Amino acid sequence: DAKRNGRGIARLFDESMDEGIRFRRRIENGLGGAIEKGELSLVYQPIVSRDSIEIVGFEALVRWNTQEYGPISPAVFIPIAEESNIIHELGDWILAQALEVLKQWPGQYVSVNFSPRQFRRHNFVGHIMQSVQHAGIEPARLQIEITETAIFDDADRAADTLYKLRQMGFRIALDDFGTGYSSLYNIRKFALDSLKIDRSFIDGMGRERESAAIVHSIIHLGHALGLEVIAEGVETEAQVQSLRIAGASHLQGYFFSRPVPAEQALALATQRFIGGEEIAIVPEAAT
Ligand code: C2E
Ligand code: MG
Ligand code: MG
Ligand code: MG
Repeated sequence: DAKRNGRGIARLFDESMDEGIRFRRRIENGLGGAIEKGELSLVYQPIVSRDSIEIVGFEALVRWNTQEYGPISPAVFIPIAEESNIIHELGDWILAQALEVLKQWPGQYVSVNFSPRQFRRHNFVGHIMQSVQHAGIEPARLQIEITETAIFDDADRAADTLYKLRQMGFRIALDDFGTGYSSLYNIRKFALDSLKIDRSFIDGMGRERESAAIVHSIIHLGHALGLEVIAEGVETEAQVQSLRIAGASHLQGYFFSRPVPAEQALALATQRFIGGEEIAIVPEAAT
């Protein structure tokens, strides 16, 4: 009968349940207790100025080392956390942790990633302000990284939120720029400080004309709009050279440093320059 049939179908569905769905459930359950279990940590990657290689800030990146499966990439678990309310607890922990570490650095900012759901949270502005006040930090030392997805779904509201944040002195960076739907034309209404060129374009620069052309136009128009342009995923000296010539204001990537634990970040922050001295590691850009 129908009842038995229904049960049968339910059971069948359960058994054949997509491995992917089960994986997501396990991730969700695991994340719930990850903070208390001490499985989460942050690493920090320097962001340097183009010419002097001075460290102006660090991007905080979350790491999750599970007892059960070993390390899981944030590219995997952040989107899953983003689909549930876990992202808020996780995000609060990340921000508090990053602000605590920042206190020891001589002057650099910390750049923290916020997912679209965090950004759209009720009273996001008040929440961030409260966190920096609690930590006793100047707003200018926190850079808020958001992606295009976070601001384009409800552009008017997002523009308002960004305006308020910027009025309070926070730095705002648009992350993974070039991968979403936004154009340089429609970002002009958002209060931003910098654009981060997605590393896929930096990676393609030496191989494809298109990537190099995209990088050049992002830098050019970014500057025309009065924005800093940060190139991420810089891995080779050739890329550094091209980016300097193209005029990127800041660089970030394995070429300078991998993301490192708090202790190492403090050592780098204290020495202020990658390599320990104020030297240009590649020849001056032709102007
Ligand atoms: P993202 O914000 O664009 O971060 C940059 C990613 O590029 C990081 O990967 C970083 O380790 C990696 N990277 C930096 N330099 C290089 C390089 O020279 N070469 C290559 N191949 N990769 C480089 P990661 O740490 O795995 O993070 C992946 C993404 O996960 C981040 O992309 C961000 O979207 C998200 N994420 C990481 N931490 C957080 C967090 O604390 N909160 C939120 N909401 N998202 C986070
Ligand atoms: Mg980022
Ligand atoms: Mg990025
Ligand atoms: Mg990314």
